[in-house]
Amino acid sequence: MSNCKAELFGEGWKRMKEWESDRIHIRNLEVFGRHGVFPEENRLGQKFTINAVLYISTREAGLKDDLTKSVHYGEVSHYLTSYMKEHTCQLIEAAAEQMVRAVLLRFPAVEKVTLELSKPWAPIGLPLEAVSVEITRGWHRAYIAVGSNLGDREGYIRRGIQSLNAREDCVVERVSGLIVTKPYGVEEQPDFLNGMIEVRTLLFPEELLDALHSVEQEADRERKIHWGPRTLDLDIIFYDDCVVDMERLSIPHPDMGNREFVLKPLAELAPYLRHPLTGKTVGQMLSELSEP
Ligand code: ADP
Ligand code: MG
Repeated sequence: MSNCKAELFGEGWKRMKEWESDRIHIRNLEVFGRHGVFPEENRLGQKFTINAVLYISTREAGLKDDLTKSVHYGEVSHYLTSYMKEHTCQLIEAAAEQMVRAVLLRFPAVEKVTLELSKPWAPIGLPLEAVSVEITRGWHRAYIAVGSNLGDREGYIRRGIQSLNAREDCVVERVSGLIVTKPYGVEEQPDFLNGMIEVRTLLFPEELLDALHSVEQEADRERKIHWGPRTLDLDIIFYDDCVVDMERLSIPHPDMGNREFVLKPLAELAPYLRHPLTGKTVGQMLSELSEP
């Protein structure tokens, strides 16, 4: 038995990382914008203020005194200022949402952004200091099982991965090897090719499921029989350490512990990742499955 640190402490060890609390603050940046529900607001514009917190490890930049290892707060401030000038929304909710997404895409070293957009002159006919919306958005890590057992199986899987990666809000960072497996559930069908991908994404879990369904559709996937033959199947196994229990979406995937074709490729990418409910590592789940 190995006593490697990651195995002993797993995700708990990772959660204690002090560099996860590194932040750069941009306080009270005054910007001009035309956001509002009244036509005058869109025509004349008004003053807004922005508070932004950029979550990024500053360790390397701090040790080397090197700006290229961090994010330039001046560039982010100018980017926010131009973005506000060039886009018009009715709601500050929409302006904040779009602006945070744009910053995360433009400055990929930033893991997460908290942004507060304030409107000091909100025309409500009452004296108020300001009204504001504050949101936090960031990159998430998802593990997605890929499978195919019809036609050009590898081609369907490769094209599916490319198509997901073509979205700016999904970056496929790692791909496991593909393994051939006997069908599961409905046994009278061709063998499967199965694998796992690690994806960095800005999508929320349900949005990710919708994105995966569109990629399956592009692969001419027909939903006829549950567990039946398919050109491409994309299932969310993990999404950070989130637990989702909805009618159309369960995360972690409820049957993952019984599926060698899920655990094997997942163990290749992330053997020490822990199931958020049972606390077991992927490696443990795999060895328990192969026990007689
Ligand atoms: P399966 O993958 O179980 O063989 P389908 O691909 O046809 O079957 O999926 C059936 C439904 O399972 C999907 O429409 C989706 O709403 C639901 N589902 C629930 N949890 C997940 C998950 N974690 N990943 C993918 N689909 C899920
Ligand atoms: Mg599926």
